Amino acid sequence: MPQSTEVKVPDIGDFNDIEIIEVAVAPGDRVEVEQTLITLESDKATMDVPSPAAGVVASLAVAVGDRISEGALILTLESDADAPAAPETGDSDSAEAPGSASQNAATSGDDPAPAPVPAAGDADLRTELVVIGAGPGGYTAAFRAADLGKQTLLIERYTTLGGVCLNVGCIPSKALLHTAAIINGAAAMAEHGVEFGKPKIKLASLAGWKDAVVGQLTKGLAGLAKQRKVDVLHGVAKFVSPNMLEVTGAEGVVRVAFEQAIIAAGSQATEIPPFPNDDPRLMDSTDALQLEEVPKRLLVIGGGIIGLEMATVYQALGSRVTVVELLDGLMPGCDRDLVRPLAKRIEKLYDAIYLSTKVTAIEAGAKGMEVHFEGTKAPPSETFDRVLVAVGRRPNGHRIGADAAGVQVGDAGFIKVDSQQRTNVPHIFAIGDITGQPMLAHKATHEGKVAAEVANGAKVHFEAAAIPSVAYTDPEVAWTGLTETEAKQQGVEFEKATFPWAASGRSLGMGRNEGLTKLLFDKSSGRLIGAGIVGPHAGDLIAEATLALEMGADAADIALTIHPHPTLSETVNFAAEMVEGTITDLYIPRRK
Ligand SMILES: Cc1cc2nc3c(=O)[nH]c(=O)nc-3n(C[C@H](O)[C@H](O)[C@H](O)COP(=O)(O)OP(=O)(O)OC[C@H]3O[C@@H](n4cnc5c(N)ncnc54)[C@H](O)[C@@H]3O)c2cc1C
Repeated sequence: MPQSTEVKVPDIGDFNDIEIIEVAVAPGDRVEVEQTLITLESDKATMDVPSPAAGVVASLAVAVGDRISEGALILTLESDADAPAAPETGDSDSAEAPGSASQNAATSGDDPAPAPVPAAGDADLRTELVVIGAGPGGYTAAFRAADLGKQTLLIERYTTLGGVCLNVGCIPSKALLHTAAIINGAAAMAEHGVEFGKPKIKLASLAGWKDAVVGQLTKGLAGLAKQRKVDVLHGVAKFVSPNMLEVTGAEGVVRVAFEQAIIAAGSQATEIPPFPNDDPRLMDSTDALQLEEVPKRLLVIGGGIIGLEMATVYQALGSRVTVVELLDGLMPGCDRDLVRPLAKRIEKLYDAIYLSTKVTAIEAGAKGMEVHFEGTKAPPSETFDRVLVAVGRRPNGHRIGADAAGVQVGDAGFIKVDSQQRTNVPHIFAIGDITGQPMLAHKATHEGKVAAEVANGAKVHFEAAAIPSVAYTDPEVAWTGLTETEAKQQGVEFEKATFPWAASGRSLGMGRNEGLTKLLFDKSSGRLIGAGIVGPHAGDLIAEATLALEMGADAADIALTIHPHPTLSETVNFAAEMVEGTITDLYIPRRK
């Protein structure tokens, strides 16, 4: 027997009177458990409200633009305990849709896609290729496709192109990290007999300069799109069938029919619901990059790359910084010997670094944010002027109406793709953060090129031997290929050389001696399989090791390549010479 269930807004933390920006279902629609019903957006965060049960929407109590709070009625669901788990798949047309199950099975080896329901009605726009999202993945894919002759439409919900990376990620953070490096570098000169005064920080000018850098790049992208005749449509895109999108923008809804699509909808900061997320003193990375103020005491929750980069910026600008990390070490995923020099340096600069510690609650008070901790090494509650939550990013897979196109999205919101970036629906590709780790701009751009080329008929694959990771902290930490930890876990037999920068003239001349360059070579093939570097400019230096790895270079190839002297790049050369046994810049006793 069908049962009527009232679906209400669940516990959404401290949010109240929050705007509905999307209603994903209509009366008569069948919904599955966990399927998104509505999307809420405050000035701090966007949240999907999932369905608690499967069933058919009997009536809808809300509309886009309504403001609601916990407990408000969203819709009434006719639920049936015997209801099938899979969505209804419509009529016989769907069997011939390009995203049909049989084609998918041949392509990706996945479970067959549900046969999608074709959308009714005419399109306002038609295009050969549509790209959803204009981040580094999306704009690269669109530009490459246009260069190959495809009629391409790029859809972006925000007014500027460039996505997270250009607007609120890689570029603004690196602009501010440059400022931090100059401030810290100038202070360090005192030890060399050159003293500068205390820097006067005009926060609004600094923020303006950072925004100008971003603006130059995003305007540049708009120009590049125009030159290539890539059409740009601003609005929120949602699939309504395997060949149709609805794009909701300032001008209303535009229906876009397409032959092929590339999903490049990226990711967003993960937030912790019970925290007072609507208090401006609780920041995510986007807020922190706005530079509203330099708090006296800043707590950074999350000792990963983004958290530590922002900690570097705020410490240099004058904040007293504390970092709290749930795991037992900073920057999980990176070898401990590479993290150690960074940890040693920041332990001296920061108020505290709490490892193996969880933040259990944050209370917003008049005097600040009172933070409660838990763990064997947890401190008592402390009050901070601001708190930055940097605990990772969530892919946007559940926010694009993927079901209507038959595109499978995993529980976490990632879209699975094959080595040609195809989803389970062969004419729909996905790239960038939405396809999985590592969530990095350079992975997104390379995947974007593969998707565009495959969409144009090329038989190419994404088969990078290594994707480098970089923390632009001080010192920088960079690694590529296998880490030493991974090599050990995988039982790979390797030979390792670690060159200490204390023996690099260039590094000493910069007043820095804590760096390391580590190379790992496969014992049987002799080839480079991994590299890690910590020290100033490690992020630039790792590119050579990545190229060597891609080219299948062995220690002799690197050791015999003449590197300019005196440079930090020589440390890569020297590490290879250590493996070759030809190093003269260090004394290594012969093994008997
Ligand atoms: C603070 C910070 C610093 C970072 N620093 C670095 C770094 O130094 N190096 C690095 O490699 N990576 C860095 N990253 C990560 C990097 O920004 C991402 O990996 C990269 O932006 C992913 O690119 P993408 O194209 O997959 O998605 P995104 O850049 O997330 O772009 C997705 C785009 O899709 C749009 N969109 C989403 N849904 C829709 C929809 N339904 N309709 C229309 N448009 C939609 C979004 O508005 C967005 O513009 C950083 C991230 C942060 C937050």
